[in-house]
Amino acid sequence: MRISELFTKTLRDAPSDEVAKNAQLLIRAGFVYKEMAGVYAYLPLGLKVLENIKRIVREEMSTIHSNELIMTALQRKEIWEKTTRWNDDVVDVWFKTRLKDDTEVGLGWSHEEPIVEMMKQYIHSYKDLPVSLYQFQTKMRNELRAKSGIMRGREFVMKDMYSFHATAEDLENYYNETIEAYKRVYDRLGIGDDTYVTFASGGAFTKFSHEFQTITDAGEDVIFLHRAKNIAINEEVIDDALKELGIERSELEQVKTAEVGNIFNFGTQKTDEMDLFYTGEDGEQHSLYIGSYGIGITRVMGVIAEKLSDDKGLVWPESIAPAKVYLVAIGDAASAQADELYNQLSDANIEVLYDDRDERPGQKFADSELMGIPYRVTISDRTIEAGKYELTSRRSGETNLLTHDELLAKLS
Ligand code: ATP
Ligand code: MG
Repeated sequence: MRISELFTKTLRDAPSDEVAKNAQLLIRAGFVYKEMAGVYAYLPLGLKVLENIKRIVREEMSTIHSNELIMTALQRKEIWEKTTRWNDDVVDVWFKTRLKDDTEVGLGWSHEEPIVEMMKQYIHSYKDLPVSLYQFQTKMRNELRAKSGIMRGREFVMKDMYSFHATAEDLENYYNETIEAYKRVYDRLGIGDDTYVTFASGGAFTKFSHEFQTITDAGEDVIFLHRAKNIAINEEVIDDALKELGIERSELEQVKTAEVGNIFNFGTQKTDEMDLFYTGEDGEQHSLYIGSYGIGITRVMGVIAEKLSDDKGLVWPESIAPAKVYLVAIGDAASAQADELYNQLSDANIEVLYDDRDERPGQKFADSELMGIPYRVTISDRTIEAGKYELTSRRSGETNLLTHDELLAKLS
């Protein structure tokens, strides 16, 4: 893409009302627009990052045979009443509204109850099981505090997945496969080393649920960590978990984290409450076991913006960067060569942001750094004379002069 065709502009300063580093950087770089606290629009470059994160999640969800769908944002009150979760004292983040005929409806903050209701139409016998479904959905939550930028939205994108099983063992196996798939997701997003599977409260069936917690000072959670033993425990359940695991609190390090994912074993609780059963091989009706698995897509983008950035701006991992290369030409001769290289790289399916604006080189360099594009290619009279291209890595800052072939090999 040519920067001259991009409507967004970089900003020297972040808006004064934005306190979160992730949102400050993303707004300055032109990735997001703040509509109000906790509500952000994703602009072309931000959307690319979001879609790249979704692509990785999609690929990993397909390895565990989950079906993608999109559920509805408007939800029926009666469905949530079955489990008492329509009640504002039970769920305190509801946005509720009314249809013209005065029927009360909710804006989806979760899709657990609606999907169980929906599956009554599709699950009848043991032959219909197991089944796993997921979606990328904009969730609406009337969060009390929204000061963490895109890490806590009142409107945010979640990947939510639900699996339905005939037996507890089958659910358990799938749950464990999902843990492995989630680890691959966070590895591919560049935060695997700092993301821990964490014991958390509130398994309906098992004693604990599991959260995926990423170490960051910008996080709102606190976990206790044993790095060598790879054990992590949310502070909410610390006493219970210490007892269960037979370890001392003094062995653990306390760190600030952000919850980037959460998985939950409901056992048969929810399906029993909502009357979803299946007929077994024995011809009898049986309870169904379900699991619920979330990833905070926009939160994870915020966590990456926080963790991998530096004093010059964002630093995206190649796997999710909005482009791989930022191309800068200095001078007229360089511009002609840059046009040619832009076409060659585009033909080779390498995503390039070509800074073809009439701007000072210093401004272009600063923008490429603020936007966090993994590689910058600079063409100038000096590089043309040397018959080379200048390649700079955003992460290390290292610069090398490469021939045309070396450059293409490096970027392919
Ligand atoms: P939290 O404890 O942070 O409020 P939660 O436990 O309510 O989150 P879940 O309902 O399990 O979250 O949602 C699944 C995932 O969605 C979370 O692990 C998190 O990554 C993400 N998420 C939850 N709330 C928000 C929010 N307000 N903004 C952005 N992402 C969120
Ligand atoms: Mg939580």
